[in-house]
Amino acid sequence: MSSAARSPSRTGVTPGAAPTAVDALSGPVSICVDRPVLSLDRPFTYALSPDLGAGVGSLVQVAFHGRRVRGWVLGPTDDVPARVADVRALVSPVRFFDQRMLEVLRWVSERYVAPLAAVIARSHPPRVASEEVAGGDGGVGLRGGPSAPSARSARLRAPAPADAPVLPRLSDAYVNGRALLDALRAGLGGSFVLRPGPADEVAVAVECVLEVLAGGRSAVVLVPEVEPLPATAAAVLEAVGAEGVLFAGGDRRERYRTWLDIASGRYRVVVGTRPAVFAPARDLGLVYVARESHALHREERAPYYHVRDVALARGRVEGATVVMAAFLPSLEAQVDGHVEVAHRRRAWPSVEVVAPGPEGRAPRLVAALRSTRRGFLFAPLPGYGVARVCRACGEPAACAACGGTLRSEEGVVRCVVCGAVGRCARCAGTDFGIARGGAERVEEWARAAAGVPVRRIGSAERPRAPRQDEVLVGGVEAVKDLGPLDLDLVAILDADLASRRPGLSARERALATWFEAAAWAGERGRVIVQTRAANDPAVQALVAGRPDRFARSEISRRAEAGFPVGGPVFRVTGSSGVEEALRALGPRTLLASEVEGQTVCLVALDPGPTGPFARALRALAERGVVARVEAEPHL
Ligand SMILES: [Zn+2]
Ligand SMILES: [Zn+2]
Repeated sequence: MSSAARSPSRTGVTPGAAPTAVDALSGPVSICVDRPVLSLDRPFTYALSPDLGAGVGSLVQVAFHGRRVRGWVLGPTDDVPARVADVRALVSPVRFFDQRMLEVLRWVSERYVAPLAAVIARSHPPRVASEEVAGGDGGVGLRGGPSAPSARSARLRAPAPADAPVLPRLSDAYVNGRALLDALRAGLGGSFVLRPGPADEVAVAVECVLEVLAGGRSAVVLVPEVEPLPATAAAVLEAVGAEGVLFAGGDRRERYRTWLDIASGRYRVVVGTRPAVFAPARDLGLVYVARESHALHREERAPYYHVRDVALARGRVEGATVVMAAFLPSLEAQVDGHVEVAHRRRAWPSVEVVAPGPEGRAPRLVAALRSTRRGFLFAPLPGYGVARVCRACGEPAACAACGGTLRSEEGVVRCVVCGAVGRCARCAGTDFGIARGGAERVEEWARAAAGVPVRRIGSAERPRAPRQDEVLVGGVEAVKDLGPLDLDLVAILDADLASRRPGLSARERALATWFEAAAWAGERGRVIVQTRAANDPAVQALVAGRPDRFARSEISRRAEAGFPVGGPVFRVTGSSGVEEALRALGPRTLLASEVEGQTVCLVALDPGPTGPFARALRALAERGVVARVEAEPHL
């Protein structure tokens, strides 16, 4: 992963903290034992010998309920019970967090009602002990010798596209751009929502990172995924050269090695996915969240944190500036009073709204395709069409196994629910009348209409930009950060599908994808949206190139539904008493159901601190009423 040559002059230092001899603790200390369950989520006191050289963030071994367990030193404590056991051993010379990072980890533990042990364990990669080597003078050194750049990191560090030059943009072209740059240069902190122009997504990220480096501080850049590597990530790494590192993917050893290198201060810019929000970068001046509204910025396993919120917490604790960048920022980012940074003028393609024609082919779109040299057709439905009727017996088509809808995809008819090969429930026939529609069918009719070759990006294929003289057809998985493209035409097909999808945030997710695809048209390009609901706030937001109208309608819709934007939401599983216990806490909304003998409650709180709620849930966990808490479930 670390492809830059290691400096031979680097001496031994303890990652994440000063040398152990200086800040070693002794006497009674709080320990977070590595038992990540809510009912044990409190510190325990042990006596620490100064000989161990342990301090805040040290991994130690203690006796707990008659067993040897590991735990982390949280700091000195006055809470000393009558009998205090000794810390038995120091497990690792590494300090896994310092005082400020501990503050962030505690915030995560409270906000997401997650055991602190789970939060600490997920804040750094799993240990590979052989990467830690003791040095002299009571300090701890890192293994010497340069780590070899792997083929993977070489590939991931491919240079940014040549058509993405870094120009000064924020200072002149953006409202509040100067304020953002000043905050970065002078280390003022603060939080900004940045809506780049269609050609600027990559360049403004690079500009922010270079500005914070010029101010002498470091940056963490968070991207939703690394396969394929977003153009923003590639360009930032390219711009900072040996000062930057991609902290994502790789094997266990490589990941831990990179983490140790970051903690030692070797890199000033860390680019990575979710876990990188905890990267132990020194003198942090910027946390940049690219494509902030992307669903992958939410961690799907405990502690279920959202990168945006952790970034904001880290910014507050460390005095770093937080930038949330997206063509369509999330509603959460829009309601929270951050400084908005956006283009001074309308920097957005012209967007035409047309009613869909037969099979979704609006005449205006067909005509536009004829003169398009380079374009993208966003077709969110996969396949060639849906089976309507059995050709053998005339029965309406439905899956013989589960009754689900049958869809023709890549030449095979399958059930969209259970995946079974399509067979008529009545006569077992396999020949169906198909109602055509979907990306495969779009590819077919677009081929007949376009003057250049039309190709489809399948869900298993690597997303790429259309070539010159090419039109691509693709769904959600094809819309990635590929850098500015300047296409002649981008078409949004089946726009009305989004409003029929289940889920409170389905429309928001769909609109974010439309914005990302539309941005490919650049300011000179043309976007055609096919919809029967031209006045829908989502469609109107896309036309305007700004989120306002959609945000207004969506924020009131969410509040009416009992799930206000920015209000914490939890799915709490427990015994039969859990519903009553939660209702006593006065939540904004509580929906309870019985699942396999357990009570599952969906709880929404009003926006604000979760401290009292988190404490109540821990107490309920200790009494056995609450078994499991999932924060921010998909709604
Ligand atoms: Zn089925
Ligand atoms: Zn049949």
